Amino acid sequence: YVTQADPPPPASGYTLRFAPRMRPENKPPWHAPGESSRPMKIEQISVTVFNTTSKKVNDTDGHTHPGPEHDSQEALLTITDDEGNSGYSFGSSESLRPYVIDNYVKKVFMGEDPMDREKLWINLAKWQRGSGANLTDRTLAVAEMALWDLAGRALHTPVWKMLGGFRDKVLAYGSTMCGDEEPDGLATPEDYANFAEWMVNRGYKAIKLHTWMPPVSWAPSVKMDIKACAAVREAVGPDFPLMLDANHWYSRMEALELGRGIQALDYYWYEEPMDEHSTESYRWLAEQLEIPIIGPEYAYGKFHTRAEWIATRACDISRVGVADVGGIGPSMKIAHLAESFNMDCEIHGGGAGNLAVIGAISNTTWYERGLLHPFIDHDEVPKHLNSIVDPMDADGNIPMPTLPGLGEDINFDYITERTIETH
Ligand code: MG
Repeated sequence: YVTQADPPPPASGYTLRFAPRMRPENKPPWHAPGESSRPMKIEQISVTVFNTTSKKVNDTDGHTHPGPEHDSQEALLTITDDEGNSGYSFGSSESLRPYVIDNYVKKVFMGEDPMDREKLWINLAKWQRGSGANLTDRTLAVAEMALWDLAGRALHTPVWKMLGGFRDKVLAYGSTMCGDEEPDGLATPEDYANFAEWMVNRGYKAIKLHTWMPPVSWAPSVKMDIKACAAVREAVGPDFPLMLDANHWYSRMEALELGRGIQALDYYWYEEPMDEHSTESYRWLAEQLEIPIIGPEYAYGKFHTRAEWIATRACDISRVGVADVGGIGPSMKIAHLAESFNMDCEIHGGGAGNLAVIGAISNTTWYERGLLHPFIDHDEVPKHLNSIVDPMDADGNIPMPTLPGLGEDINFDYITERTIETH
């Protein structure tokens, strides 16, 4: 790739990894003939806790709903190497608290080559067993994604392309918040139907409902769930893909009744009606229903659990989200595991990491965009970003990010202004 127009490589100390920062825009990386790379070294790991604003609140059971605008804490993990490359990843201040960063992440990562993501992830994951549940899959995910972001920024390449690169856009499904008791919110089956019509007009090519859960006084209710699903089917017509993410703690018989109800409405998948730690309950359910069962989403155990679900026929579609299984690397293992069984793997949740996985695999169809609610504007840019990572066009497509790394367009000035603490 060295052409007459390219500047000559420096005489010494030059490696391939320097090239992207020195090469002209839109040219492939170049390096001196015969030159090999030397390992980089992680030199600094820091967490910036900052205030941003949010219009979402959690109810007493942890479900998200619209609320008044308020200050909300977030944290940014920064990993920097000895060549000045940095990678960034957002997490909760709790999952990135000093105890966890000092005792696990720094202990395993410092001084190591940030490009050795597999080694670093496995060595960090091994600490989970003895951590007394302090080191969670969430922390693993944030730490691992910062490594991906660093590598992508250093190589001037989006992470989805580094992972393989399969598609440059993906269709989104609109994923609703859980039901509530707000007038004109998501309080009735008619509310869901009205909101579904709005989503169709906005461009969404599929819709997934989250129905009512406690603390809604009368929830959960199989009958009401079926009514909401029927109202939405009526609103969008017979050929529009619809999915249900049911209440997570139904009994077997309730789950079967609900599954039969939405099967008759020609729903496309049935998600998490029961506690997922009982694989046998899902095998029992899948055996009796035609509608595809998707899962597991939140069950612990990363790729091991997904393998068990596939092997025991507890699911028809596999499921993984980067925050659920400890990052992008383990998510790719699960997607490829499913592919080996000719099985689709649909990705849980939005955001940069999940989008990167979607861009790199063939056996997925949708991006989960949300959570959506009539009172929330999902297209509004959070103040700590310059743009959202998942803009959607009128045809329901989300383009893969073109920025190097994970593709988050971070507003560093805002974060600096609103920093509460750094550790
Ligand atoms: Mg779900």
